[in-house]
Amino acid sequence: MKIRKLTAILIAIAMFFVTALLLISFAAAPNSRIEVLLYHELEPGGSQEWPIIDPEDFYSHINTLLEHGWEPITLGDFALWQQNKLKVTNKSFLLTFDDGGESIYKYAYPYLLEKQIPATIFLIAKYHDPDYVLTEEVIPPKLTVDQIQEMSQSGIISFQSHSYDLHREINGKPAILALPPERVLADFKRSRQVINRLTGEKVNSIAYPSGTVDQEIIKLAREAGFELGFAGNIQGAASKKEAMSTKRFPLDNLSPDVFSYYYETFDRQHPKPPFLLLRKLYRKIVVSGKTLWNI
Ligand SMILES: [Zn+2]
Repeated sequence: MKIRKLTAILIAIAMFFVTALLLISFAAAPNSRIEVLLYHELEPGGSQEWPIIDPEDFYSHINTLLEHGWEPITLGDFALWQQNKLKVTNKSFLLTFDDGGESIYKYAYPYLLEKQIPATIFLIAKYHDPDYVLTEEVIPPKLTVDQIQEMSQSGIISFQSHSYDLHREINGKPAILALPPERVLADFKRSRQVINRLTGEKVNSIAYPSGTVDQEIIKLAREAGFELGFAGNIQGAASKKEAMSTKRFPLDNLSPDVFSYYYETFDRQHPKPPFLLLRKLYRKIVVSGKTLWNI
């Protein structure tokens, strides 16, 4: 009798620790990663040379993610996640487009609207500034003010900064590095004003032109009022430690097949959700080989 009582106590203690461990594993659920996808232009046929994707390939990429349980999030939610004010699933993605090409309106927007997928478009603000006198031919064409306002009013598209006029080179050097800090700061501030005037939306994010970012640029971006910064060509998931230099996945030139490979990579980067571990444990200990139900 005494031995049985002791066994019961030991089992109770063991159960307590198992439950505590499971609770800890739930609390530490891998919910701190977001993939930030980066596209530019869309045109039938796409390109391997330029950042242009065939619209069908783009739809295929996003459909693949949706079919596998990935959830698109808004830039607002991304900001809240960065501030630890919002939890997201570990299969979340933020969709971004750089450069503000008209092809986004033509090919991506109808699809995004139909599926209600939020996206962020980073504009080179001078091209959309009614006060700016264009002296050069713009190829490919940029979004018009009407298109920007229509998309902004849909509630699913956010417009943010890709600088005012730093998306170019000066003597072979990215303008953001070639110009003195005060010029870069003034450019950043102007981009915020121009885009805010177009949409009425708070412009708190910048995708650094040329993808170039260092501590000096981050300092200037903060000073200009940006709270989030996005890098261009550094691959990787978003990290809470890098709010001003978030990594993105440039996906313009990826075929659906290669994207699937990337998707597998994304998936492998995420540890299995705790309930799967729990199921495995349950099967091993309790069911011991017998399948009770198919899950
Ligand atoms: Zn760009």
